[in-house]
Amino acid sequence: MNELVLKGVPAAPGIAIGSAYIVDKQDVIVPARAILEKEIPIEIARFEEALLKTREQISALKKKISDEIGSQHAQIFDAHLLVLEDRMLFDDVVKKIRTDKQSAEYAFSSIFKKYIKVFANIQDEYLRERSSDVNDIARRVLKNLIDETRFMHELENLTEELIIIAHDLSPSDTASMFNKNVLAFATDIGGRTSHTAIMAKSLGVPAVVGLKDATLRISNQDTVIVDGRMGLVILNPNDKTLSIYRAEQERILSMRNRFDDIKELPSETTDGRKLEVLANLELPEEIPMILTRGAAGIGLYRTEYFYMNRVDLPTEEEQFIAYKKVAQTMAPYPVTIRTLDLGGDKFISSLQIPRDMYPFLGWRALKFCLERPDIFKTQLRAILRASKFGKVRLMYPMVSGPGEFRSVNAILELVKSNLRRENIAFDEDMEVGVMIEVPSAAMTADILAKEAKFFSIGTNDLIQYTLAIDRVNEQTAAFYEPCHPAVLRLIQRTVDSGHKENIKIGLCGEMSGEPIYALLLLGLGVDEFSMSAGNILQIKKLIRSVGYQDAQQLAQMALTLTTGPEVEDLCRRRLQELAPDIFNVDGS
Ligand code: PEP
Ligand code: MG
Repeated sequence: MNELVLKGVPAAPGIAIGSAYIVDKQDVIVPARAILEKEIPIEIARFEEALLKTREQISALKKKISDEIGSQHAQIFDAHLLVLEDRMLFDDVVKKIRTDKQSAEYAFSSIFKKYIKVFANIQDEYLRERSSDVNDIARRVLKNLIDETRFMHELENLTEELIIIAHDLSPSDTASMFNKNVLAFATDIGGRTSHTAIMAKSLGVPAVVGLKDATLRISNQDTVIVDGRMGLVILNPNDKTLSIYRAEQERILSMRNRFDDIKELPSETTDGRKLEVLANLELPEEIPMILTRGAAGIGLYRTEYFYMNRVDLPTEEEQFIAYKKVAQTMAPYPVTIRTLDLGGDKFISSLQIPRDMYPFLGWRALKFCLERPDIFKTQLRAILRASKFGKVRLMYPMVSGPGEFRSVNAILELVKSNLRRENIAFDEDMEVGVMIEVPSAAMTADILAKEAKFFSIGTNDLIQYTLAIDRVNEQTAAFYEPCHPAVLRLIQRTVDSGHKENIKIGLCGEMSGEPIYALLLLGLGVDEFSMSAGNILQIKKLIRSVGYQDAQQLAQMALTLTTGPEVEDLCRRRLQELAPDIFNVDGS
């Protein structure tokens, strides 16, 4: 087995060495569901129907393949059809439904597991390989038997430390891995600000995305190295490579706490400009870690994770309890709660809306909330009620301009007046801010700044919408340029417009946690940086190592350059000169 280096997009730093675990999203675990005596015929009928439907689907597939590429390629489906017609399989499942009084899907999946085991142990290699076909049939039947949203991922049950290799991971997949034994992520698709990247940083594990065909090349239990800084996955590393990476892993580990001594110190430049460095929060479970990093609050609480991995919508009470706890734990520091940002790569299964309804340029965030005021108002009520228990700030995502901002504020005012009528307390002075992540918002920042209490620039989206580059598409990852002159001009415009009206400008996109960009953003006048907790101390150290004037000079020079790579080069050089401590960690 030769060593093989796969190149992808670096998504979260760090090095992991371990055993691969291929996540096939189709793999399902069917929980047991006991049925009543009178339901037995119903379950048997459901099973028969599912078999029939699967047979129809496979026959259609067979015809399609036969028409398109020839009948010899369609022969494999004859074997599938034979399995479906197997009398013994049918009888075994029916018997299990009757005697164990279990649902059709549970009876089928347990009987089928035995079949798969038999196939896997067959000596004949050809026949053994057919186990994947058998698996495929099982999936089809199960899908026809149960609602897809009830599929439970294998991921929920991880017990040993593994490197997750997947074609793609949805935010709900990664959220379900919190506190599990995940050493790293590697995915076939995705860009550097996709949610796999964001979650990996929250979990503090390395990630490489956009590897194109990692799931085809890597098998379960293969030894792999994930190099999150360089965007590499090394399959079957040889001894030399392993020892180099183990040494590097040690080096990184030894530096993990290198900036702990500045945790309690202010984020202040050498010439006295004071800033704030806050944390981005995806799941409340991250709070203990965030507190150990000296965060001056939460600059972005992504609440959409609250709505994921469940079959119903969260109630007002549930949300209130969660928001209140975060507000209380972080007090007196601010907690910036962002309203539901559904869409793009964030889906919510409980809403049963087809995925193609909300792509990045579709029914996303506020556009969805404006059409579903029931869901939006429930969240606003919960946030307002929580505002009494700490310093809560409310922030809207994906605002396209002043009109939309006023529309959502009108709903907020309605919710407030209802609460007043019901004598329910909330913070009457709760600040309401706008995320600047759509170019139209940046272009109207002068107007928005007169009406909002703060801005928070969402560069992850601002870059994709300005450059017309999908943030999660690995094919175009090289064109996703944070330092593109258009992006810099929009940031500058936003900062200047905000400062004119004396409001604070935050930045909560992934750029703020990367030293070369943070230096530039500091110079552009950003007041508040919010990032994955793991980056806080490094950025604080950077701020404490440089003069604001130097950063401003850099920004002025960057604004005269004409391409993104030129700006990146300049920033890298200046970072090396101004803060070599930081540069040698990340830039070497
Ligand atoms: C952003 O777009 O920069 C941002 C912080 O929001 P999200 O990544 O959740 O879309
Ligand atoms: Mg965004």
